[in-house]
Order: sequence, then C-alpha cells, then structure tokens
Amino acid sequence: MLRQIAPEVFQISLMPRNSINCYIIEGVLVDSGIRSSYTTVKKAIQNIPVYQHILTHAHADHQGCSDQICDEFAIPLLCHSDEVFRTETGMVTNGYPTPQHWVAMLQQKYWAGQGHKVEQTIVENDRIGNFRVIETPGHSAGHISLFREQDGVLIIGDVATNMNLLTTATGLRLPPSIFTSDQQLNIKSLQKLANLAPAIICFGHGPILRNTDRKFERFVAKCSAAI
Ligand SMILES: [Zn+2]
Ligand SMILES: [Zn+2]
Repeated sequence: MLRQIAPEVFQISLMPRNSINCYIIEGVLVDSGIRSSYTTVKKAIQNIPVYQHILTHAHADHQGCSDQICDEFAIPLLCHSDEVFRTETGMVTNGYPTPQHWVAMLQQKYWAGQGHKVEQTIVENDRIGNFRVIETPGHSAGHISLFREQDGVLIIGDVATNMNLLTTATGLRLPPSIFTSDQQLNIKSLQKLANLAPAIICFGHGPILRNTDRKFERFVAKCSAAI
C-alpha cells in the first residue's frame, strides 16, 4: 500500500500493520523490504518514478528485492561503505551478534535478496535531494538515516522501531538486540537523531510517528538513562 506522508515522501507498507516499510523520497527508493515484496515495490515505482535506490542498511528486510528492482529499472544502488560487503554479497546476517541463531538463518534463507553491486557510497552530510545523510551506526555498522530540515521528515531505518515486532503493538522500541551489532552505539545514534527534533518519523518497522508532543525525545532520554 502506497501512502503520501509529506511532499514527495511516500510510504510503501509491505506487510500488514506497517510491520515492514520502505519509502520513496524525492524520486529515491529507500530500502526494499524482503524478497517477496518485489511485486508491491515494483507497482509503487511504476506510479512514482525513481532514479536511484539507497539502503539505510543491508539487512534482509531492507534489501530483499533491491537486486531485482535495480536490474529491472536500471537504477544505481547506494549505501554507506560499511554496508558494502553485506549489500554486494547478500550475506546479510554477517555482523549480527549471533548469525547462527535460527531466526537469523531463516531471514537469510527466505527474506534476503541476492547481492547487488554498489554504484556509489554515501557519507555523513551527503545530500539526497533536500535530505541530508546522517550516519547512525549501531544497529548495523554502516546504518544511515535521512533528514529533511525544512519540514523535519526523518527516515530512521531501524535505529528505533515503532512496533513490538513480536506482538505488532504500536510503540517506540529499540531494535531487537539479536539483530543489532552494537546496541550502546545505536543509542548514541538515537541521541544524535533526537537532537534534530524530528517532526515526522518514518520507520522501517511500525507506523509513521507525528512527533508533536516530543514523544521521540522522551523515548530517547529513557533509553539513554538505561545505559
Ligand atoms: Zn535491521
Ligand atoms: Zn529491519
């Protein structure tokens, strides 16, 4: 399902209850869900043309159909240099604290897409249209977020989720530790994002958050106090 969130920002909800999302921002596809998301992502970008594809990070639920989409639409793939290995090999659980965990094995087998060549790497402060690249390592080594200052839209990837991934109940959470390389570093990245005072937060998992009451900053303060 395709939904407009802000000017030139569209959410592609790939699973029920927004449990996996990707986005189109100013003509750029950000993430691509899991392997079976292909038809939905393809339909979305037939409606809203894109000229490149960026990964917040190369986990199986974000790069699942990146290879197919980039081939089909002949668009370049971009990610941070610390995600290049996972992106190009498709070995997406590399970097998990326990890659042999059975859930990780299932993700690798059933969700992950093929690797795909990275055309260009991105770093802190690169511009993607009006969005700025923010390096937010921790959940994975080369995780990035994207922030548009003019209206406070933040594409947060998996630095936080707005859903309990087991029950699907809405609410701000840290990403599960078994899929996070360094949770303490991830919390530092969360603090960096809280300092931007985002207005509209778009998650890899869970519904969009309109941050009118500074709920996000309060959540980050709580996480920071716990470490
Ligand atoms: Zn992830
Ligand atoms: Zn994810």
